[in-house]
Amino acid sequence: MQVQEDLDIVIVGAGYSGIHQLYHYRKQGYSVRILEAESDLGGAWWWTRYPGARVDSEAPFYQLSIEEVWKDWVWTERFPCRDEVCEYYQHIERTLGIKQHIRFNSRVLSAQFDESLHRWVITAKDGYVIRSRFFILAIGAASKPYTPPFADITSFQGVCIHTASWPKDLDVKGKKVAVIGTGASGVQVIQSIGSQVAHLTVFQRTPNYALAMQQKKLDRKTQEESKRLFPAMFRRCKQTPNGFSFDRFPKSLHATTPEERLLFFEDLWTVGGWRFVTNNYMDIFTDKKANDEAYTFWRDKVRERVHDQAKQEILAPTIPPYPFGAKRPSLEIDYYDVLNRQNVDLVDLNKWEISNFIQSGIQTADGVEHEFDIIVFATGFHTFTGPYTELKVRAADGTDILEKWSDGVYSYLGMTVHGFPNFFYMYGPQSPGSCNGPTCSEVQSDWIIGCVTHAMSNGFTRIEATREAEIEYRQLIFELNERSLSKSTSEPTNYKGDLAQYGRLCSDVASNHYRGFVFSKDTSDVAAGKFTRL
Ligand code: NAP
Repeated sequence: MQVQEDLDIVIVGAGYSGIHQLYHYRKQGYSVRILEAESDLGGAWWWTRYPGARVDSEAPFYQLSIEEVWKDWVWTERFPCRDEVCEYYQHIERTLGIKQHIRFNSRVLSAQFDESLHRWVITAKDGYVIRSRFFILAIGAASKPYTPPFADITSFQGVCIHTASWPKDLDVKGKKVAVIGTGASGVQVIQSIGSQVAHLTVFQRTPNYALAMQQKKLDRKTQEESKRLFPAMFRRCKQTPNGFSFDRFPKSLHATTPEERLLFFEDLWTVGGWRFVTNNYMDIFTDKKANDEAYTFWRDKVRERVHDQAKQEILAPTIPPYPFGAKRPSLEIDYYDVLNRQNVDLVDLNKWEISNFIQSGIQTADGVEHEFDIIVFATGFHTFTGPYTELKVRAADGTDILEKWSDGVYSYLGMTVHGFPNFFYMYGPQSPGSCNGPTCSEVQSDWIIGCVTHAMSNGFTRIEATREAEIEYRQLIFELNERSLSKSTSEPTNYKGDLAQYGRLCSDVASNHYRGFVFSKDTSDVAAGKFTRL
C-alpha cells in the first residue's frame, strides 16, 4: 500500500463542520486535508436537489461564524433555498480559498489506526491513501439514504427515486406521482410539486407537526446594519438550548391565564419559523399538560386550513400521536393548502399499509391499486450508526467501530470512542440532535480544535477516551432520554439535553485537563511526526 500524503489532520466531508475545522487548523499552521466524496463544497446541500429544497433554519443563523465569510455576505430570503446555500459555499471559497486543501471525488472507504505510528491510515475508493495523526469525520447524519425494504419494489415499471438522488432532468409536470414519507424532504417536495403534477398521492405514516415558515425577503441594508451585532449573536447562539440567539420564555405555561397563552401562542405563530418551538414556555417540553396545550393550538391552526375532515384527522389528529416537538417539525409554506387540492390524495399508512409494489404502482392493504409514473421515496437516511456501514472505521487490531457498538453505542461526548485514539466525529451517535446545524457543529468543532491543539502543542501523539468516561457518558444519554417527553423506547440516538448544557459539559472536560482522556507520547522519530512529505 503506497501512502501518498502524510499530514497532521485528515477530515472527511466539505460541509460546514469540515470547513470550520479546516479553516482553524490552517490558521494554526497544521497540515490538513479534507477528503470529499462529491465534486464540490456543500456537504448534503450539494447533492440535495429535490424540488423545493430549502433550509429550515433562518438567516442569519444558518451560516459560519467566521468573520471573513459573513462580513461580505447577505441572504435574499429568511429561509434560503438550496441554490442560495450552494452559492454561499462558493462565497466561502472566494473568501477563504479552501478548495486547494480539499481532495474532491474522494469517497473514503476505510480508516485504520496504526498503533506503532500513532497515526491513521485512510483509504479512498480510488485507491488514494493518506496517513494522518488525527482523523475527523464531518459527514453529518444524513449521508446514507434509506429506502424501506418493501417487497417487489423492482416490479414497478415507472421511475423510482429517492429525494437524496433527485435526477437533474426529471420532469414531473403532468405525471402521476407518489411521495412516501412526510419528513422535512417530503413536506418540501409535496408543497413544491403538488400544483405541477397531474395527480399526487401522499403516503403518510406519522403526521409532521409542520409549522408556518412565514417566509420573507430580506434586504441588504437591514442585514448590513445588524452585522455589528454578529460577534455577540454567534456567541449567544452557543448559550441557548437550540442554537439560535433566542431562548425559551422564562415562565411556566401553568402560571398564565388562557387569554395570555392564546395571545402568546398567536404571537409566536405570526413570527413563524422555529419560534413556536424555541421561544415557547419553559415547560412545554417537560410537562405533558403544557405540551398537550401547544399541540392543541397547532392542531387547530392546521385544521383551519385543511378543508376535508378525513384529511384533517390524518394530518392533525384529535389526540396527539406523539408529544409536540418530539420529532423535529418541518417548516411549511403552503403544504396544507397543497393537500387541499383536488389532484392530491392522502393515504394514512396506519390504516392501510403498503402491501406491495406492482407493475403500475403501489397496492395498499385495502386492495386498492394506485397507479403512478413516478414514485418518490422521501424516507430519509440511515442515521445513528448508519454512515459507518460504508465508511469502515477500524481500531489498531482491526475491530470495526460497528462491532464495538454491536451491544450499544459507547462514545465520550458524542465525539470520541475508547479504542479509537486520535479519532473524532461530529453530528453523529450521541451528539446533540435537534438544533440549528451550524451552531451545533461549531460547538463540537471548537472543542475538537481545542483538544487537537492541546495535544499537538504539548507533543502528545496519542489521545484516547477512557472506557469509564464513555460508560458515564452513556448513562447521561439514557438519563436525559428518561427525562424527556420524547423518550425513545429503543436506544436513544442523540444527546437530548440543551445545546448550551452540552457545550458547558464539553468545556468542563477541557478545563479539567481533559478529564476522561489519556494523553501519551511516543518519542520515536516516526510517531513524533518527523515524516518526509510524500
Ligand atoms: P426524515 O425526516 O427521516 O423523514 C422520513 C420520512 O419517511 C418520515 O415521514 C417517515 O415516517 C417516513 N418513512 C420512513 N420509513 C417509512 C416506511 N417504511 N413507510 C412509510 N414511511 C416511511 O427524512 P428527511 O425528510 O429526508 O430528512 C432527513 C434529515 O434531513 C432530517 O434531520 C431533516 O431535518 C433534515 N432535512 C433538513 C432540511 C432543511 O433544513 N430544510 C431539509 C430536508 C431534510 P415516520 O415519521 O413514521 O418514521
